[in-house]
Amino acid sequence: MTTTIIGFPRIGHHRELKFATEHYWKKKIDQAELLKTAAQIRQNHWQAQKKAGIDLIPAGDFSFFDGVLDTANLLNIVPERYRQLHLSPLDEYFAQARGFQQGPETVKALPMKKWFNTNYHYIVPEFSKDTDIRLVGHKLFDEVEEALKLGINVKAVIIGPYTLLKLSRFIDGAKPRDFVDKLVSAYSTILQRLADQGVKWIQIDEPALSFDVDAAEKALFDSLYQPILAAKGSLKVLLQNYFGDIRDIYNDVTNLDFDGIGLDFVEGRYNADLIKQNGFPADKVLFAGVVNGKNIWRNHYTKTIDFLTNLNTQAKVVLSSSASLLHVPYSAADETQLPSDVKQHLAFAIEKLAEITELDHIYHNETAGEAALAKNDALFKNVKHPYNQAVHDRIASLDEADYTRQPARDEREKIQKQEFDLPILPTTTIGSFPQTKDVRQNRAKLRRGEITKEAYDRFNEDKIRRIIKIQEEIGLDVLVHGEYERNDMVEYFGEKLAGFVFTQNGWVQSYGTRGVKPPIIWGDISRTAPITVKASVFAKNLTDKPVKGMLTGPVTIFNWSFPREDVTPKESVTQIALALQDEVLDLEKHDIKIIQIDEPALRENLPLRKSNWYTEYLDWAVPAFRLVHSKVQPTTQIHTHMCYSEFGDIIKAIDALDADVISFEASRADFTLIDQLVAAHFQTEVGPGVYDIHSPRVPSESEVEDLIKQLVTKLPVEKIWINPDCGLKTRSEDEAFASLRNIVDATKKVRSVI
Ligand code: GLN
Ligand code: ZN
Repeated sequence: MTTTIIGFPRIGHHRELKFATEHYWKKKIDQAELLKTAAQIRQNHWQAQKKAGIDLIPAGDFSFFDGVLDTANLLNIVPERYRQLHLSPLDEYFAQARGFQQGPETVKALPMKKWFNTNYHYIVPEFSKDTDIRLVGHKLFDEVEEALKLGINVKAVIIGPYTLLKLSRFIDGAKPRDFVDKLVSAYSTILQRLADQGVKWIQIDEPALSFDVDAAEKALFDSLYQPILAAKGSLKVLLQNYFGDIRDIYNDVTNLDFDGIGLDFVEGRYNADLIKQNGFPADKVLFAGVVNGKNIWRNHYTKTIDFLTNLNTQAKVVLSSSASLLHVPYSAADETQLPSDVKQHLAFAIEKLAEITELDHIYHNETAGEAALAKNDALFKNVKHPYNQAVHDRIASLDEADYTRQPARDEREKIQKQEFDLPILPTTTIGSFPQTKDVRQNRAKLRRGEITKEAYDRFNEDKIRRIIKIQEEIGLDVLVHGEYERNDMVEYFGEKLAGFVFTQNGWVQSYGTRGVKPPIIWGDISRTAPITVKASVFAKNLTDKPVKGMLTGPVTIFNWSFPREDVTPKESVTQIALALQDEVLDLEKHDIKIIQIDEPALRENLPLRKSNWYTEYLDWAVPAFRLVHSKVQPTTQIHTHMCYSEFGDIIKAIDALDADVISFEASRADFTLIDQLVAAHFQTEVGPGVYDIHSPRVPSESEVEDLIKQLVTKLPVEKIWINPDCGLKTRSEDEAFASLRNIVDATKKVRSVI
């Protein structure tokens, strides 16, 4: 045994699982057919791995929705309200993942959260005093059995108890500690069952060790694993970490009775230092995550082999991926429209399997590896990312002034109050209006070549004309053009900037059956032509009210793309920032005086370790945002938008973006963030969302009025804006217009009494 992977994408080569699952939800197919499709997908994936030469193959990494939810359900962690629905186990599982509605019965879904620093989302298990942890599920054992029958050399995969406790929500006074004994007993039983099935290895995933781990958490980890490992019998246990390094707990982990330790050497480079400083136990197997599970570039074999050799360990080494391949698309062979010089550098999941096998041959000095090594060396000798001297010169010449907007924000605030003369509590929206069927059809027609670009543009202009009228009639103060021309807030900009390329089939699971197709950063990034100017100017000329220009910010464009590995994130983000600076100044030149730069993804890419938040991220990400807008006139008002309210711990960094106004999600009456803003003397004007656009509910006028009144008691009235909490893209027009009317009318009422 010398090669393995942590996990494989589940959605299927052609997203078969997505389509089958959605058909099942719509009752177009029955459960038996869905299960059959799923079994076929698993079989294909195992066989693909076997064929590629992977010799220890994961089972249990498959999921109908999410692996954390699978583990919770295996262990009977199912809140009572879902049991009360009396559904089949699979439907009960989907009810937890997506909510349940039938006649008068409705139960909301469990919350969903970002999976560490990826764009994948997991379902958050709920522990309460009633949670009775017991091994009740059989999905893991069934899948293992299925694989064994197919002659697969199985590694059973499960989320570990420490990560499960770290990621879950605890209600009605329940605490993680309360569940240690039950978890130990359930995991011990799992180990015995797997051993009885004839499984040799289990991989227990503990990515939460990449977070900071304090003394109490270490004790928790030990109290879980000491007894579990005592019960492992003949089964070999691999402790698998990813998304970083395990610096806080390395010695505990290596001292425990694990048979293998899986480390991420891509994101967790520091793991190599840990091995050098502390040694690695010679009697354990080191599962070396050297092939990047989160990015799509070919592995540079010479570098990887040098790295492995330098580890200088006596331990047996098994080559692996750095993370589950869940985070990359299925196969680069499906891409027929990419230039060949780009395509040859791509390795999606299928190609990564071959890479691991080839690296293994090279590492063990097998002749089978020689040709692969030569080919790989040639590839990296000839890599030519489009180089743009002007971009490099521009970055080299940047100094402090380029990152500093003048005059200071409180000065600008006065100037802008005069310039715009808006009523107090100005009303606005976040940018997009409903992407109705006709809007999507118009885009599809252009893509299929059924209409001309002129006809396409004319359609969108009619849409803009209509939405400007509607906004005027509703009585909003700052209008938008509606973003009808955008398929996606990142792809749209990527397509217009030099330096990006796009896949046809590069789907990656985002959550459940939802996928994203991230753009790829390939060359130096620059703006070659105006991007949003035409639509913004068209809208502006239709009304006397100010129309807000609408851009996606540099950090979000970067975070939702596949980044280059030969340049730093800071370098790429700075390039995007400069391209956007050109667009901002162009908008300003065309008399667009309010410009919003969205950064919904700013927070999600915070490093997992708090001590790295600033040094490895915010210290350059925040200035990059400033670079986009630092050169505008004092009279130009810069807005930004973020879709979450969890920035209580980085308030200073948000203020340091130096925007004039920020809008954000502030879920129903939960204004704790507002208190934090007040306490931190937040300076930016704020538009806390007063309408939850994620729900089909139309908030009533009095309800919104109440919210605004609360806001006014907490924040200085001259600093407050009134808006929904995100773009209206996914709502119906009826819902959106009715809600906006209520918002505007409620605002007018409050204004009249202040
Ligand atoms: N301007 C974008 C919109 O309104 C913002 C989307 C987002 O924050 N995700 O759709
Ligand atoms: Zn948003």
